[in-house]
Amino acid sequence: MSIPFLDLRAGYVELQSELEEAMLRSLRSGWYIGGEDVDRFEASFADYVGAKHCVGLSNGLDALHLGLRALGVGEGDEVIVPSNTYIATWLAASYRGATPVPVEPDPRTYNLAPTRIEEKITPRTKAIIAVHLHGQPADMDPILDIARKHGIKVLEDGAQAHGAEYRGKRIGGHGDAVTWSYYPGKNLGAFGDAGSLTTNDDAVADSVRMLRNYGSREKYVNVETGYNCRLDPVQAAALSVKLKHLDAWNARRQRIAAIYTEGLASTGLVLPHVPDWATPAWHLYVVLSEQRDELQRRLQAKGVGTLIHYPIPPHLQGAYASMGMSRGELPIAERLAAQTLSLPIGPQLTEDDAYRVVEAIKQSL
Ligand SMILES: *Cc1c(COP(=O)(O)O)cnc(C)c1O
Repeated sequence: MSIPFLDLRAGYVELQSELEEAMLRSLRSGWYIGGEDVDRFEASFADYVGAKHCVGLSNGLDALHLGLRALGVGEGDEVIVPSNTYIATWLAASYRGATPVPVEPDPRTYNLAPTRIEEKITPRTKAIIAVHLHGQPADMDPILDIARKHGIKVLEDGAQAHGAEYRGKRIGGHGDAVTWSYYPGKNLGAFGDAGSLTTNDDAVADSVRMLRNYGSREKYVNVETGYNCRLDPVQAAALSVKLKHLDAWNARRQRIAAIYTEGLASTGLVLPHVPDWATPAWHLYVVLSEQRDELQRRLQAKGVGTLIHYPIPPHLQGAYASMGMSRGELPIAERLAAQTLSLPIGPQLTEDDAYRVVEAIKQSL
């Protein structure tokens, strides 16, 4: 048996002729920065998520960084971030000279616990970054209520949540802005690095467009110290093709998730909890086990690939050593890091393989 965690090549092969046609057309156009392919993808992704604007960017981290800057976060500010996220969420705050202030997640959904946010708000708090971790939507209504009450901004990190819905509406236009990564392994993935920001706020969209292009709206007129964070047109051409298949591919992920949820129900593993207001995108299917490392080894021996998202929480990384946080300070994030295991999931994983994964897990416990 050989079941990889994710087979990116299989996704390419499935759409090969459509992708190659679109990418070749882009290459042959003679236009390699911005242009029609980028405009077309931005318009269709904005439409897909239900936002007024989509600004194509270089990757998800740059999207978070430019998003925070456009929302007014700067030197000395504080940004509320989940304690259990990919480090990019924290790094974006650090890039702005702001301090990431971790808040522990709800222990059942692994997403930012709204009840723990207010105790961390100070006069310096400028924004909250809500991450839709594993493709499970965060509980946006209470988060937005708290932000409005305190006059702070909400940036959503949608890197794992393309197509996920919160209370029947796709992630993309709830908060002040949403950032997206199209890293190859995401639900909507490019063939290299790519990202975007969606928003309903005209000023935020205009600001991010200016910042991504050297702080310039008009060629050689630079109004701010901007960056080069543009979306590559060949990637945009590929993303336009893949966007048309996103719902169908997410439906396959959902089917794999259903097989796991049913098959693993009586194993004692902690399975994903899906609140009734959530329609996850199933970027990851994560189980918790106190014998996680042993389980992962046994599955590997049977040919089943799994990954750990993420083994070290940001506050215990060398990158944040200067914050002086020690083990035990964020116990939920630390427990998740020790117990979390991501099972194989992806649009090209067959249902038969999902049943085989279930059997392999049962034999490994
Ligand atoms: C992938 C990811 C990012 C970073 O995206 P890149 O495109 O790799 O920069 C940020 N946040 C989360 C939650 C992610 O999963």
